[in-house]
Amino acid sequence: MRCEKCGYESKNNKKKLGHFFCDICYLFSPDDENLLKEYSSETIPSSSLETFRKHFKPGERQKKSMIKKAAKGNLMSRVAFGYRLEDKKMIPAENYKEVEEIFEEFLTGDFSLRKLSEKHKLSVNGLKKILKNFTYIGKIKFNNQVYEGDHKPLISTTLFNHVQNKIEKLGIK
Ligand SMILES: [Zn+2]
Repeated sequence: MRCEKCGYESKNNKKKLGHFFCDICYLFSPDDENLLKEYSSETIPSSSLETFRKHFKPGERQKKSMIKKAAKGNLMSRVAFGYRLEDKKMIPAENYKEVEEIFEEFLTGDFSLRKLSEKHKLSVNGLKKILKNFTYIGKIKFNNQVYEGDHKPLISTTLFNHVQNKIEKLGIK
């Protein structure tokens, strides 16, 4: 069966709560049913997992080293708005300046979330994801932990933190 997350085809793919995953996507899959649904619907290109696949042997020790590799910036999620992939690396895309604009505009408060999302042709949910995305300060959130990435940040940590404070203050989920 085909892996639902990365599309990798293998006889060894495993089933979890009705979803099929390859060894790697299985390893990182959440146990909660709803999170699992979300996880499998956020598809990634199988090619971004090739490094993992080559070195993969089941076992705890391997798991740790794989997480470390992921922490080093191997992609486990879709490429974030404002970046693009080149040779499996995330680099700033043509529209990278728009990211800082979005953070600034949200912070100054001249726009509602809806207005801001319309302005940048995003969905409100997509906009929220951007505003909370650690990717933009050069980090990677992976399995609910934040790691140092090896991609270029698009905004300053200060701006990011201010935005997180405002998100919290406004109770935006
Ligand atoms: Zn997979």
